[in-house]
Amino acid sequence: MRDATSGAEIAPRKLPQDWMTAGSARKVYDALERAGGAPRFVGGCVRDALLGRRIRDTDIATPLFPQAVIAAAEAAGLKHAPTGIAHGTITVIADHVGIEVTTLRRDVDTDGRHAVVSFTDDWQEDAARRDLTINALSATADGTVHDYFGGIEDLKAGRVRFVGRPEDRMREDYLRILRFFRFHADYATGPFDPSALAAASALKDHLKALSGERLRQETLKLLVARRAVETWRAMLDTGIVAAYLPAATSIDRMAKLAALEAMLQVALDPIRRLAALAVTGSGPALAETLKLSNAERDRLTAIAAARPDFVVGDATLVRRQVYDLGNALALDLLLVDWGAGEPDAVGENDWHEAYEIVRDWKRPDFPLSGGDATKLGLAPGPEIGKLMRDVEEWWIAGDFAADREHCLAELMRRVEGRGA
Ligand code: ATP
Ligand code: MG
Repeated sequence: MRDATSGAEIAPRKLPQDWMTAGSARKVYDALERAGGAPRFVGGCVRDALLGRRIRDTDIATPLFPQAVIAAAEAAGLKHAPTGIAHGTITVIADHVGIEVTTLRRDVDTDGRHAVVSFTDDWQEDAARRDLTINALSATADGTVHDYFGGIEDLKAGRVRFVGRPEDRMREDYLRILRFFRFHADYATGPFDPSALAAASALKDHLKALSGERLRQETLKLLVARRAVETWRAMLDTGIVAAYLPAATSIDRMAKLAALEAMLQVALDPIRRLAALAVTGSGPALAETLKLSNAERDRLTAIAAARPDFVVGDATLVRRQVYDLGNALALDLLLVDWGAGEPDAVGENDWHEAYEIVRDWKRPDFPLSGGDATKLGLAPGPEIGKLMRDVEEWWIAGDFAADREHCLAELMRRVEGRGA
């Protein structure tokens, strides 16, 4: 098997892994098995276990109908919640961890946005309605993997391809266009599957009709996937980006950000990457399309705003920016602006030094509050606000060196000097 980063041949990992033999997923699995539910682990957890990658979430499938899943959970003393009961999903909770249990399904109809499903007891039918071969694997807790569509071979070869004809599968659910790129970015080692790429390009205009929540989930995962930069570039070249997120085009800036994140070992962040892609001023529009939270929208908007570049080369100025922006936003701006206005690597040291300040310097709190001014006999009112801001500005200009005592003395000096 080819490892995406090293290119070395690796063998599929031996199953079962620990999470299959013990822990909360196994408790839920056992509860279903005791009720005659013949459960299997399905989807991403099997795929990632075979690759030796960290498991993100564990999903279980069973031929049992949802009511029988609930009965099985109750018989085992496990709590449950009907999180997706309309399409057959019950979340069963063991040791405070929720595991999604879904009744085997087959797709019977579709409008391209929602599949209409019915239940089945046929594992192959359930695998056939999944999107990609590598996502159609299932496994029992003893480590036996069931693979109806060549998913293991595709994993080994680093091939991301659909179960069935890509165009048919995309017409059933247009989100699969984005899922194809997302999984390609994370699991493929070679070029795009040509028929899937062609189908994605032909059907791209349907992306607009999908819900913001669904677009959001796939897009944010895609932005931090392993080969996100080259995949986004391909999505630009084929018009996919223009079809649903037309302002996310600054690919060179995202490429530079990704290189920096790797060099500095900064945790990847999808909002920061989206902000790097965003053309100036497009934050609110992007946030609207992807139904971002208010906090995410504000952050995206602040990074992608028409604004001066982050200033480096002067430690005091860097600290002042951290004070004004907070450490988190200062890091965003620094990383997105890194090298701005420099034709080559001139000033690289300045950016490194600024990075260390932004990372390590803790933004201090101004040592005074309005109460200090009233204690000096000033009546509450706008004048106090102005005085406090002046002293704060004096404190910042002194590079935050003055302690509370010195700030009080400065306040006093200004109060006394008022009438003069
Ligand atoms: P991740 O690690 O990102 O969660 P995953 O494989 O678990 O990857 P999910 O989006 O959580 O991906 O979906 C779980 C499984 O459900 C997939 O592996 C796939 O089999 C199936 N699936 C999810 N969405 C679709 C879809 N739109 N069309 C077909 N199958 C889907
Ligand atoms: Mg998942």
